[in-house]
Amino acid sequence: DPRVHAIKTKIRVVPNFPKPGIMFQDITTLLLDPKAFKDTIDMFVERYKGKNISVVAGIEARGFIFGPPIALAIGAKFVPLRKPRKLPGDVIFEEYTLEYGRDRLEMHVGAVEQGDRALVVDDLIATGGTLCAAMSLLERVGAEVVECACLIELPDLQGRERLNGKPLYVLVESH
Ligand code: 5GP
Repeated sequence: DPRVHAIKTKIRVVPNFPKPGIMFQDITTLLLDPKAFKDTIDMFVERYKGKNISVVAGIEARGFIFGPPIALAIGAKFVPLRKPRKLPGDVIFEEYTLEYGRDRLEMHVGAVEQGDRALVVDDLIATGGTLCAAMSLLERVGAEVVECACLIELPDLQGRERLNGKPLYVLVESH
C-alpha cells in the first residue's frame, strides 16, 4: 500500500528518550500531517469495517488517539484501558512486567460484556506485555479478541510471540 511509506516517514525517531539507548518512536509528528494521520485511520478502518467488531479497546495513552476514530468509523463502542487509579468506577486489572518493575492496566466493570468482539489498539508493540495484559482483561469478561492493531512493531523484540497466537496487524516495522 503506497500510503504506508508516507506514514512511516512521518514517525520521528528520537534517540535516548526517555533514557539512554532507547530509540523512541514518536507518533506526534504523524498527527501534525492530516493526510498521513487520516491515511493511518483509513487503513485500519478498511481492515476492520464489516468484521462485526463491537468494541475497540484503546491502551493509554496513545491508543486513545488512534482507537476512537477507528471505533466511530466502524460503529463500535470505545473502551479505555487505563493506567492505575485513573478510572472512577469499579475496575478489574491485569499486571504486567516492564523492563524495571511492574505496571498494570485497568478496565471498567460492565464496559465490555460476554460475547463482545474486540479489537485492541495501541501505537506500538515492543515486548508485547502491554497487549497481552489488555487481551487478558477482555477475555476475562467473556469478550473475543479478534485482533490487535498497532501502527508500529519493533520486530526484534519478538513481542508477537507473547500474544498466544492472536493475530497482530501493524502498518510499519522499525528495526
Ligand atoms: P510493550 O509492552 O510491548 O513492551 O510496550 C509497548 C507499550 O510501550 C505501548 O503502550 C507503547 O505506547 C509504549 N512504547 C514503548 N516504546 C515506545 C516507543 O518507542 N514509542 C512509543 N510511541 N511508545 C512506546
